[in-house]
Amino acid sequence: MKLATKKLWLFDVDNTLVRDIEHPIPFPDAIRLCQELQQRGKAIGILTNVGRLSSRQIQSAVNGAGFGFDRDKTFSAGAAAAAFIHNRRPGARCFVISEGGATEDFIARGLDVTNNPPVQYVAVGADRGMTFDKLNFATKMVKRGAGLVCISGSRDYPGVYLGMEDTFIGERSIVAAIEDATGTKATIVGKPLPEMFVESAKSLGFRVTDCVMVGDNPASDIAGGKAAGMLTVLVRRDPGQILEYESRGLDQTPDITVDSLEEIIDKM
Ligand SMILES: [Mg+2]
Repeated sequence: MKLATKKLWLFDVDNTLVRDIEHPIPFPDAIRLCQELQQRGKAIGILTNVGRLSSRQIQSAVNGAGFGFDRDKTFSAGAAAAAFIHNRRPGARCFVISEGGATEDFIARGLDVTNNPPVQYVAVGADRGMTFDKLNFATKMVKRGAGLVCISGSRDYPGVYLGMEDTFIGERSIVAAIEDATGTKATIVGKPLPEMFVESAKSLGFRVTDCVMVGDNPASDIAGGKAAGMLTVLVRRDPGQILEYESRGLDQTPDITVDSLEEIIDKM
C-alpha cells in the first residue's frame, strides 16, 4: 500500500473526526490515527463542506474536541468558494449570504464583501438567520449579471441553532430559489468539486499525489478526492449521519475501506 509515502492527510470533519461540527464529540479511532500521524511527522489538514463557520472557527472546534492540529490547515467550503472566485476575478465585489463564517473566509482571501451594488458574485451558504430582503437582493444582483456560487451543496443538515436542535434547510435549497427566480444555474463549490481538493493541497504546500483524503461520504469525500488524484480512505460511520450530495457522475469507489480508522495504522 502506498500510504506510507503520503505526506498530507486531509480529513473530513462531520461523521469522520467528530459527530458533527455543532456536536463536536470526537471519534476515538480518529484521535488515535491523528496522534499516530503526528508522531510520524505527517501533515494533517481539514477539508470540510461546512461553510456556515469560518475555517478558523472549524479548526478551533475540532481542536476543542481533542485534536491538536496545527493552525491554518483548515479548508472550509467558504474558503474554497473564496478561492474559486479569486481565481476568476481577484478582489471581486461579492454579496454573501452566510451565518458569518464564509464572510470571514472571503475577507481573508482579499475579496470585497459588500451589501451594495455593483456586485460581481453572489455567494450563498447556509444561513439560519436569512431574510427575505437578502434573498431578494441576491436575486436582483444575479439578474443584473452577477455570478452565482453555492457554498457547498447540502439540501439539509443536522445542527443546533439558538438552542433549537433540528434538521435545517441547507444552502443548496436556498440557492434553488434564486436559480428558479433568475433562470441562472449556480456553481456548487464544495466537495466533490475536484478543484476544491486541488486548491486545498496547493494552499497547504503539497501536490495532490502526496495526499490522502479520509472521509465517511462516498459522494463527496471519495468522489472528489479520487477525481483530483488523491488516495482515498472511506471510514464506515453511522449511515444516518451521511449527508446527501450530488456526486456529479464521479467514481465513488474508495481505494481503502475501514470500519475503524485505527485499522489504517497497521496499513501504513
Ligand atoms: Mg462527513
